[in-house]
Amino acid sequence: MYTRILLKLSGEQLQGQYDGGFDIERASWIADQLRPLVEQKKQIVIMVGGGNYARGAQLASEQIPRVTADNIGMLATLMNALALASVLNSKGVPARALSNIKADQVVDQFTHRRALSHLQKGRVVIVAGGIGRPYLTTDTAAVSLALEMDCEVVLKATKVDGVYDKDPEQFGDAVKLEHVSFDEALQNVDIKIMDKAAVGLAMEHHTPVIVFALLTDGNIGRVVAGDGAGTLIG
Ligand code: UDP
Repeated sequence: MYTRILLKLSGEQLQGQYDGGFDIERASWIADQLRPLVEQKKQIVIMVGGGNYARGAQLASEQIPRVTADNIGMLATLMNALALASVLNSKGVPARALSNIKADQVVDQFTHRRALSHLQKGRVVIVAGGIGRPYLTTDTAAVSLALEMDCEVVLKATKVDGVYDKDPEQFGDAVKLEHVSFDEALQNVDIKIMDKAAVGLAMEHHTPVIVFALLTDGNIGRVVAGDGAGTLIG
């Protein structure tokens, strides 16, 4: 159902079985999940997070100003993008990393034209560096990138299979919601699955967001096919 998608992969997803760093096995599994979609000519843009290495808000302190901490967080996403692109390519899924932080020696700079050209050649585009400015997270950057690249939907990969009426890890009777309006996602303080800034941006531009469980085999495909897996925010 969707042809061009924005997939948000957080550092937590990329660290897989480890407490930090990059899990090659997890990335290989992701490559296997993406391959059939690429073969079906789906165009995939991935925004990678960096929380498996650094998060600005956690690092910011008296000794490290917030802007520096966020810069470190953005640099962390570069490592994920480089590693993920390598794994995807090695598994026969053509991919290119582009960065919103200029780092010419290691990665091509993101430009709209370059990203579009890769997509048109059937390559997965992995974007690093968020949007290249501090005080933001890669969730918000993901929505912004989806708008810029004209993606029809933002797919937010998580460890839970959608948005619940209360924390499913704490409450056994938590109920999964099929659909949550933008208003509800914005106003309900218990819905923490995505930053409010990201939800607000998606709302303003009517870009649907689907929260889904990454680790269920075939789930990315189901979500892209629009078969109702996960929770639709929109
Ligand atoms: N970041 C930023 N600007 C952006 C995107 C990210 O400053 O446009 C920084 C911010 O410090 C953030 C870190 O990069 O904490 C890593 O991204 P994020 O926390 O979103 O990663 P995730 O939680 O998805 O792994």
